[in-house]
Amino acid sequence: MKEKIISVKNISKQYQQEQASGIHNISFDIHKGDIIAIIGESGSGKSTLLKCIYGLLTLDEGEVFYQDEKVWGPDVLLIPGHKQMKMVTQDFSLNIYAKVYDNIASMMANTDVHHKHQKTMEMMAHLHIDHLKDKKITQLSGGEQQRVAIAKALVTDTSVLLLDEPFSQVDALLKNQLRADIKRIAAETGVTVIMVSHDPADGLFLADELLMMKDGHLIERGKPADIYQQPKHIYTARMLGNAVVLNQEEANKLGLEVKDGHAVFYPEWVELNNSWNSRRFEVKDVYYKGFYEELLLERHGVKIRAIQLNRGVHKKNDHVQANIGRFLSL
Ligand code: ADP
Ligand code: MG
Repeated sequence: MKEKIISVKNISKQYQQEQASGIHNISFDIHKGDIIAIIGESGSGKSTLLKCIYGLLTLDEGEVFYQDEKVWGPDVLLIPGHKQMKMVTQDFSLNIYAKVYDNIASMMANTDVHHKHQKTMEMMAHLHIDHLKDKKITQLSGGEQQRVAIAKALVTDTSVLLLDEPFSQVDALLKNQLRADIKRIAAETGVTVIMVSHDPADGLFLADELLMMKDGHLIERGKPADIYQQPKHIYTARMLGNAVVLNQEEANKLGLEVKDGHAVFYPEWVELNNSWNSRRFEVKDVYYKGFYEELLLERHGVKIRAIQLNRGVHKKNDHVQANIGRFLSL
């Protein structure tokens, strides 16, 4: 069993002006070395939760612990947060006129200049930014700035790294690289990572655990694969896999038996083949997705989506046999 590093116990935080804001009665533990992804739509309380863990906000209720030490908020501490936690926000908070090297080195005291130099060089190598050592921050791309910000956060004795929307500034290519970097750095340094994103693609494949936030509530948590395959909420299925959601009437029209609630399935659960329980659908549209296509199918006025891996096999206005191989009643 992995060691517990953060405990969040029944925390609530409501912003004064608005009634429906903030987070409500949230509890969970985080284990050392894990990567945690907090996922949820905009306004669901992700940043608030992150700030509460870090000690930036005064809690209405509940407590946060770093190992066995309570994390105090700004009402108690002048400089909030535990010294072994570091947060990288979307604005990076870098000294834009200083060089990369100095931005990172400035985090450490001058008591041991050799150590300071050593650590700075080591961290730049870790983040693959050693070649940018003498550049000013203003000369860097968004992705490079982000690496500097992470290096800066990790160069001191950091055990928990908090990242708020870490990939929001970078293009798709760099996103993949940064994702892989974060995973590698976590594995190499043993740092625990808590990251927040509204884009589940950021978290799904990176995280050891996903926390789903909705309207300030933690609605479910689990391993990415488990929560994707077996979501408890329509919201989760929609966020994670752009699921098709049919109401009871629609589901019945396709022969799906749903007692109450909805039939929920991902497009890749729809099999385009002619089996005993396949039904005839019309292809209403074809969406190009790169190495595959998504088909918009319709039967008796009910629209669903399916994945077509071999492009061009079925075209608009074709009729296809499709079978919803698996669905969830939610
Ligand atoms: P997310 O990061 O998931 O987009 P936030 O944690 O920033 O969500 O916000 C959660 C809710 O709290 C939203 O409804 C937001 O409008 C509200 N909120 C956030 N910060 C403040 C604030 N400083 N004052 C008042 N309401 C806020
Ligand atoms: Mg936010």
